[in-house]
Amino acid sequence: MPKSNTTDAAHPTAKDVTLGKLELHELNPGACAGPDEWLDGNSATKFDSINPATGSPIASAFCANHDDYERVIARAREACLRWHMVPAPKRGELVRKIGDALRENKDVLGELVSLETGKIKQEGVGEVQEMIDIADLAVGQSRMLYGKTMHSERVEHRMYEQWHPLGVVGVITAFNFPVAVWAWNALIAAVAGNTVVWKPSPKAFLCALAVQHICNRVMRREGYPGIFSLIIEDGAELANRLVNDQRVALISFTGSTAVGRRVGETVAGRMAKVLLELSGNNAVIVDDSADLDLAIPAIVFGSVGTAGQRCTTTRRLLIHRNVYEEVTARLSRAYEQVKVGDPLAPGVLMGPLIDAQAKQRFLDAIRELRQLGGVIIRGGDGLDRPGFYVEPTIAAAENKWALVQRETFGPLLYVMKFETLEDAIAMQNDVSQGLSSALFTNDLRHAELFLSHAGSDCGIANINIGTSGAEIGGAFGGEKDTGGGREAGSDAWRAYMRRQTNTINWGRELPLAQGIEFDLQATESAG
Ligand code: NAD
Repeated sequence: MPKSNTTDAAHPTAKDVTLGKLELHELNPGACAGPDEWLDGNSATKFDSINPATGSPIASAFCANHDDYERVIARAREACLRWHMVPAPKRGELVRKIGDALRENKDVLGELVSLETGKIKQEGVGEVQEMIDIADLAVGQSRMLYGKTMHSERVEHRMYEQWHPLGVVGVITAFNFPVAVWAWNALIAAVAGNTVVWKPSPKAFLCALAVQHICNRVMRREGYPGIFSLIIEDGAELANRLVNDQRVALISFTGSTAVGRRVGETVAGRMAKVLLELSGNNAVIVDDSADLDLAIPAIVFGSVGTAGQRCTTTRRLLIHRNVYEEVTARLSRAYEQVKVGDPLAPGVLMGPLIDAQAKQRFLDAIRELRQLGGVIIRGGDGLDRPGFYVEPTIAAAENKWALVQRETFGPLLYVMKFETLEDAIAMQNDVSQGLSSALFTNDLRHAELFLSHAGSDCGIANINIGTSGAEIGGAFGGEKDTGGGREAGSDAWRAYMRRQTNTINWGRELPLAQGIEFDLQATESAG
């Protein structure tokens, strides 16, 4: 059982957070193979969920073991056989009920996200809202799994394509969006007729338990076991098994490029499908016509929100030399107003980093920056208090430095000057990642250039909006080392289905495509 053994009275325990509706303390997790079927933790291994605001454990849980894994996969496969026979709009109806349950639990689940990941409560609740939004989208999508019809070149033939479920979909998620990314994948995958096995980050497993519990309640009530399952572990042994498992038709992986690259290679090696949502290194460009009243708050939210731990966090700021002094001065003043502290406390805008390692990586990056001759404009230190806090930091740097080329997952914003928009676009594209990008401008030509083929090479390119905070209606994802995957809205649902082209001959002849004559009778009589 997860133990509520928090030592910091200022922070709610898991039990406190969940007393209202989630009842986490009832669970005996490790792996879950169906509604209310929490498998006994016969593994002796337990691990803790740590509150990053205090460094103290919130709760502990048993890890799933290899036997649990087998049971979960077997149930998911079995459930698939029934689930894909359920009409898609009916599957959508069940997802609508999950959306309703999330609405009922929005505040408490948002608070748990905040408690376990250190993001401020507003952002925790916003993440749950994103789940609700995607549930709504999935309900509509369940009636729009469209295939095309084509005109056959052959007489009395009909040709069309249709989309079928894949089977079991494995979803591996990162710590920083511990519930929304699951929803992006799982709810669309479910209306598409798949069953879903989730392997969350060990750094945010309580959130996963809570979501699984909510799903279980709905699916038990509706009589559909085994559609959503969960495997939690402290490490990546079972994740690795999932990635290698021939029975899993799609792996949707969200995380770092380093891990995602290996996942991509492994899944490609077994000829299954893979959806990769990996690291970003996102830039905002501010040209000399920009409305700074829009740009400054967008840059602050983009670089400091979630303590710089979003894949879409603004990491590089490219400023036209005519407005460089003004932008850096205004930004520095805006950073002064960013209250850092307990993410559940009112008025706080930035909480801690996820763990001690993340804090150390941030401090290492600052040291490297100084060695390279970078100039700290603001911040640049850790905070001497319990938990994993650092100062939101702005530093002058150069795009070509290896430090700037990689993603340091924290509130560290590099500022750089440019002379022409073409130079700025070249700089913004000159990194290996390609997730999100933004230009602040009032110049129509600049905006169009940035959005043209000669402009941003990222999956997301915005005008007068920051790099983070995407809406779910669009397809979300990035190019190059970000992995090329697309999730959420638009036609992202196709990733969770297989396409089949069907040609039906309703005539009495057998014409071949391309007009090929294959005269069997002539061959027979000649023989
Ligand atoms: P991570 O790569 O350390 O871990 C991600 C997940 O992979 C976790 O569940 C982890 O347990 C699992 N994992 C670890 N080793 C594995 C292995 N060998 N095989 C299979 N799974 C394994 O990432 P993180 O620190 O949790 O998250 C931060 C990273 O995620 C950042 O780089 C961020 O940019 C990226 N991210 C990207 C997106 C996106 O949509 N592009 C969204 C969120 C986060």
